[in-house]
Amino acid sequence: MKVYDRLDRQYEKFAEEYKHAALRVLDSGWYILGNELEEFEKEFACYTGSPYCVGLNSGLDALILAVRALNIGPGDEVIVPANTYIATVLGITANGAVPVFCEPDEFYNLDASRIESLITDRTRAIMAVHLYGQAANMTAIKSLADSHGLYLIEDCAQSHSAKFDGITTGTWGDVGCFSFYPTKNLGAFGDAGAVLVKDKELAEKFRALRNYGSQVKYHNDYCGINSRLDEMQAALLRVKLSHLDELIHERGRLKDKYLSGIKNPAIILPKVREKSGHVWHLFVIRCERRDELHDYLESKGIHTQIHYPIPPHMQKCYNYLGHQKGEFPVAEKLADEVLSLPFYNGMTYDEIKYVIDAVNAF
Ligand SMILES: *Cc1c(COP(=O)(O)O)cnc(C)c1O
Repeated sequence: MKVYDRLDRQYEKFAEEYKHAALRVLDSGWYILGNELEEFEKEFACYTGSPYCVGLNSGLDALILAVRALNIGPGDEVIVPANTYIATVLGITANGAVPVFCEPDEFYNLDASRIESLITDRTRAIMAVHLYGQAANMTAIKSLADSHGLYLIEDCAQSHSAKFDGITTGTWGDVGCFSFYPTKNLGAFGDAGAVLVKDKELAEKFRALRNYGSQVKYHNDYCGINSRLDEMQAALLRVKLSHLDELIHERGRLKDKYLSGIKNPAIILPKVREKSGHVWHLFVIRCERRDELHDYLESKGIHTQIHYPIPPHMQKCYNYLGHQKGEFPVAEKLADEVLSLPFYNGMTYDEIKYVIDAVNAF
């Protein structure tokens, strides 16, 4: 048997609806900044309980524009988890600001107890990431941001619909940044992203920034970019959004199988924090002999992934920040031990049992 993360199964579930939406867009003769995007923005804002949603071209653009819209730039510092995907950090450095890395807690999210000691008079924002689909400790993080007068930006690329203490991720802070990359829980069929904001003026600023910085055609108030969520992706996302709860429930059932089936003392299973919603974007285990486990599973036809093998502070592109190996031991240990098992909508019980048996036999 071959088991690997596959997108064809989730497409097949609602294929007729996707085809119908795609043809509606093709037939409409209108492909950028139209009705589909407006409706998707309303529907996603309503779904998350946020006053405003602005559709963009990717999750990375959402992060870059979030930092830019809040006027954070050269000389400013932003606190960010040391174990996140590179895009979170690129959102900061693309604006000339400095990422200040913070170690994660046992749930792989920002360790709130370590944030205060990183705050300086140049700190402007905290960037929280809800990694693997589990909400970070938002009550603590928000109260730190508030008491120090810092902006709070959330990277929700993996956490669509996840809540902390009943409040949806992406609505806790000043800007919630989303990716709709095809593998995400709310994935499009190409690149797409969005921000959630509470403030009307800020929403208008994002609308301008995504369209060359212009609100009125040929009048440019900001130096913007081209980052529009196109009509085709918006229409397809509307279909997916209408089934998102069902898709997340299915992931929950698959996760239960893994949690109850994997019984190997060499494996550390993921834990869920009290009050944290978890939408199980990824099912990430840990193993000291991770590379051996990876090769063993590969030999059984099971393709696993590593999210992420090199922490941002050790990436070549960030040599200029001057960090050393050993500076963030918790994040570095995670990079050496994490392994994402195959996990996708449409995964059959036979497939998951095959993976469980192989992990237990290791
Ligand atoms: C996927 C992802 C991004 C980037 O999103 P794109 O749409 O691919 O640009 C940013 N942050 C995290 C945590 C992600 O998983």
